[in-house]
Amino acid sequence: MSTKCPFCGSENTKSYLKLKDYFLTQEDFEIVECFECKLLFTTPRPDHSVIGNYYKSDEYLSHNEHKKGLIPWIYNRVKKINIRYKYKITSENFIRPRLLDFGCGIGDFLYYAQKKGCKITGCDMSEDARNLASAKLKKDVLTPEQVFALPHSSFDIITMWHVLEHIDDLRYFSEQLYKLLAKDGRLVIAVPNYMSFDALYYTDKWAAFDVPRHLNHFHKESLQHIFVNRFILEKIYPLKWDAYYISMMSEKFVGNTNSFINGIKIGSKSNKKAKKTGEYSSLIYVFRKI
Ligand SMILES: [Zn+2]
Repeated sequence: MSTKCPFCGSENTKSYLKLKDYFLTQEDFEIVECFECKLLFTTPRPDHSVIGNYYKSDEYLSHNEHKKGLIPWIYNRVKKINIRYKYKITSENFIRPRLLDFGCGIGDFLYYAQKKGCKITGCDMSEDARNLASAKLKKDVLTPEQVFALPHSSFDIITMWHVLEHIDDLRYFSEQLYKLLAKDGRLVIAVPNYMSFDALYYTDKWAAFDVPRHLNHFHKESLQHIFVNRFILEKIYPLKWDAYYISMMSEKFVGNTNSFINGIKIGSKSNKKAKKTGEYSSLIYVFRKI
């Protein structure tokens, strides 16, 4: 029996991978590939009433910056370097832009952008994250519903750092982004790349599949398909640090006690191969609204 693609509605789909929620619940899931739009999607998809249960873990580092241990320490150091790198890519050719960070988490990227003079707006699904970010930014952080109610062309830049893989209704979502962005505005999207060496190496244990929190899994072609006709892809940038972090997490799922060293090994191999192929563990796509 085929499963219908949640983006294009095609039933021309096939099982890509069977896997578990290795991170939290150990429940079984499946990733299905759509042959029409090339999207990979998680099934079954937990509905709105229960999806929150899959995020309840102290291990969810994006919401936990004070955790002790080597990996959280590295994670936080790298996060700072990454923020500067992400800001440089994002703000190119703009002076004091109106910037929306959709899925802003605890607001670290916006905090940096605010200091650099951007007129910032934050938005997150999680109430805890919104409260933490609001305190940090001294500004109300909005829910998605509040952001979608803003006037057309409210922003010059919209960023989504590892957010699009969590979005259930991609079609509605991409329409809202199009509406909110001013003409020639930039849409900056970072997502894991399932064609990277580390993804192909770890297969079902690849930590960036992260089912069922990640509902969509992208590659260059499928990501562009979502924004085609409305946006032009200007450039793709690598996120090289993700290869190490994701490999270390994946090593844990494999059950390897030496996850740190092995993660570094596989992560650096992934980056080395990607130099030739462009298939980095995570990619940043910069689109321009037309
Ligand atoms: Zn499809």
